[in-house]
This record gives sequence, C-alpha cells and structure tokens, in this order.
Amino acid sequence: MSGHCTRCGEAVCICSKEIELRPEVLAFARLMEERLREKDEDKGSSWKDKTDLSLLVAMIPKFHLLEGSIQRGRNRNTIHAVDLANYCMMIADVEYSGEREQ
Ligand SMILES: [Zn+2]
Repeated sequence: MSGHCTRCGEAVCICSKEIELRPEVLAFARLMEERLREKDEDKGSSWKDKTDLSLLVAMIPKFHLLEGSIQRGRNRNTIHAVDLANYCMMIADVEYSGEREQ
C-alpha cells in the first residue's frame, strides 16, 4: 500500500484531513477524550502496549454494561458507549502503530 496513508489506508488521506466534523461526532469525540483524561493518571496510553486481541477481550465487559444500560433503561448509555468507542479507537491505534513499525 505504498503511497497510501498508514492509518486510514486511503491514497488520499482522510484521517488527518482538516474537515468540519458534525456536531454529534465532535461532541462524542470530546466525551471520549474526557473519559481518557479521567483515566490518565492510572493508565495513560498503556493501551499502546496491548494487543488488539487483549483490547477486544477487555472491551466485552464494556459492551455488556452498555447492553445492560439499554435493556434496563438506566440512562447510562452515553458513558458506556463512550467507553466502548475508546476501546475501538485503541484497537485502531494499535493497528496503526504496528503498521508504522513495519
Ligand atoms: Zn489517513
């Protein structure tokens, strides 16, 4: 994939392009960042040393928290969705970092 962006895989990179984000995407990304910052002291960027598979396994309880919130109408959907999304981001980041090292 020479000439293609190592993160998004596109010939014309879309992941570092300055584009206007939808308000919903921007708000959600801010929540993701906020949640990561809450855990910075404990964990920092320790996901970078993990494998995609271990992150996937760690994500399962987060999925069940979201599932439970939705099923029981606990109004905690957003925070659990944000946690889940952060695991997705970490899996994507690990793949990106691994490809950069090759
Ligand atoms: Zn890109």
